[in-house]
Amino acid sequence: RTPALEIDALTLSYRRRGQRLPAVRNVSLSLAPGRTLGIAGESGCGKSTLAMAALGYLPGNARIEQGEVRIAGQSLARLSPEALRRLRGRQVAAVYQQPAAALNPAIPVGEQIAEVCRLHFGMGRAAARNATVEMLRKVQIPAPQALLHRYPHELSGGMQQRVVIAMALAPDPAVLILDEPTTALDATVQAEILALFAELRRTVSAAMLFISHDLAVLRQVCDELAVMYAGEVVERGPAQALLEQPMHPYTAALRRCIPNLDSDKRRGGLATIPGTPPELSALPGGCVFAPRCPIATPQCTAAPVPLATVAPSQQSRCLLPDLAGQAVRPSRAAPR
Ligand code: ATP
Ligand code: MG
Repeated sequence: RTPALEIDALTLSYRRRGQRLPAVRNVSLSLAPGRTLGIAGESGCGKSTLAMAALGYLPGNARIEQGEVRIAGQSLARLSPEALRRLRGRQVAAVYQQPAAALNPAIPVGEQIAEVCRLHFGMGRAAARNATVEMLRKVQIPAPQALLHRYPHELSGGMQQRVVIAMALAPDPAVLILDEPTTALDATVQAEILALFAELRRTVSAAMLFISHDLAVLRQVCDELAVMYAGEVVERGPAQALLEQPMHPYTAALRRCIPNLDSDKRRGGLATIPGTPPELSALPGGCVFAPRCPIATPQCTAAPVPLATVAPSQQSRCLLPDLAGQAVRPSRAAPR
């Protein structure tokens, strides 16, 4: 089957103050219909840039240096602006952090969803209304009829986000992009929306690209994971394998930030990763994570480290993948 989303050796830069910042570097990902791929990584590592590239929706100062994005087999770069606009409504949809920003405050939510159905399927009023109720059920809104005539400001943040998800799914897209869809919600509501995604994962045909800085969130909803650092994918593979047996010290460090997952209770509470990601304008020569890495050797800084297969369907950009999991345990972090 044709993958729903293919990102093929994508390199993308932003122009800022006369400089080109390589925000996404040589990223390749493939996502089959119905699968969920999580993108993890700290702030600024290029997650949203990748999402915008997948939507063909980049700001004016961005430039694709190399590679391409294909949605359901169609290369975005080859589409006319008009064809791209059509594809964006129909084949690829996105949900962001702030649901209110995605809704028109002046129009009842039922009408906003119905409008999408009319636009994409040429439905009449009655059919669009039925489809809307159906979509609201799909996102587990308990009394959909009662919600149709409500305005966005009358709904809680969690309800608003459900409406936005219903609207995104209404055209039955091949790809649904979720950029931190639960980050702005309080903990209880976040758990409810994550439970919804766990359900949607089984019931919708869309492939989902789920972006979060929080591995604990991704763990609950993803089949596969890609971990980004300073614009590169440093590790990717089946979600469970990556979490149980990280083969890159950055994944291992992110994993240690999940409370109650790591059995190493010594640190108590939340672990943090010392140091900060490098400036895109001054990337280190070898492995980009080496300056923060507890197991780095001189070899790591000598030349760029390629993404290599380290376990069945698991790839890592680390020269010492077998040591990655132990990377910051005090017993293993050799004094240097
Ligand atoms: P966050 O978790 O904070 O949302 P992110 O992983 O989504 O971060 P991006 O927003 O993709 O990261 O940013 C990647 C890099 O590109 C950052 O260094 C950021 O400063 C830079 N960047 C993002 N948008 C632009 C822009 N429009 N112009 C210039 N630089 C940008
Ligand atoms: Mg972002």
